[in-house]
Amino acid sequence: LFLLGTVTGGLCLVLYRLFLSRRLSLHALIEQGLERDEFVPFYQPIVDVSNNSLYGCEMLARWVRAGGDTISPMEFIPYVEKSGQIFPITDQLLRKAVRDIGKLNWHLTQQVMSINVVPDQLESMDIMQKSLALLHTTKIAPSQIAFEVTERKRFTNLTMASDVIEQLRDCGIDVKLDDAGTGYGGFSYIQQLNIRSLKIDKMFVETIGTSDIKLSLLDSIIAFGKEAGMEMIAEGVETFEQSSYLAARGVTLQQGFYFGKPMAFRDFAYYCKSMVSR
Ligand code: C2E
Ligand code: CA
Ligand code: CA
Ligand code: CA
Repeated sequence: LFLLGTVTGGLCLVLYRLFLSRRLSLHALIEQGLERDEFVPFYQPIVDVSNNSLYGCEMLARWVRAGGDTISPMEFIPYVEKSGQIFPITDQLLRKAVRDIGKLNWHLTQQVMSINVVPDQLESMDIMQKSLALLHTTKIAPSQIAFEVTERKRFTNLTMASDVIEQLRDCGIDVKLDDAGTGYGGFSYIQQLNIRSLKIDKMFVETIGTSDIKLSLLDSIIAFGKEAGMEMIAEGVETFEQSSYLAARGVTLQQGFYFGKPMAFRDFAYYCKSMVSR
């Protein structure tokens, strides 16, 4: 029995060490990625279907590793949100994204780039100060960037967040509620944080044309948004049917594979040109 205990104990220790070293190595790999400047912004168009114009884009992170592998944010965002590495990663993305967008003449056409943040990032003034400093080097106005904060994560300091959001709004920077209807907070966040813009999650959009119970949730979110005079952007629009259903209910700001996938800056610049010259 003693022997068995020692053997399993030892085995557990080995597994535990392996687990630890794996975790450490993901952490270290990300540090290396940061040093090598490997986090790259991709851009997905957001279209206003009422007049077929480009409303702007959502900036989405990609990790492009030496050798060319592109790693999806699903693989590292959940980890870096916990490790705190989301802060330097966002800095790296923001720096590149502002530089990219600065090349698009958006100061003439007023499109908006929306940037994903976690609640922690809206609990200090850091992101606002950094963004404003970066924007100063371009012709892009503060009102041409926005932050989208997911309601999948909790805010720990709602008072601080509501302060930060108010200051952002004073500079013209809007804060949108991402993944609306899927997580914590929901309507109470909207009220307490004075949110005026919703991103309707693709979980709801994909029920269009089905008899899924979530279809009635989609209809209630839209009704609520209209009633409260909120801006709404539907994400995950993949088909003409989904696009028309939403447009018929007044949700004309739409994003999804039907219009374009997230793309590298060169492709996005080309996309923008083709929209303007249509
Ligand atoms: P999200 O904010 O909900 O972003 C939308 C996701 O849906 C993106 O996945 C996008 O590629 C995908 N998508 C867009 N249109 C369609 C469609 O028509 N059909 C389908 N099936 N999918 C569509 P992606 O780029 O893999 O990003 C995944 C998530 O990672 C994002 O979900 C966001 O929560 C997070 N994320 C990405 N970049 C950042 C970042 O810079 N910071 C933070 N905090 N989170 C990020
Ligand atoms: Ca988002
Ligand atoms: Ca979203
Ligand atoms: Ca989503």
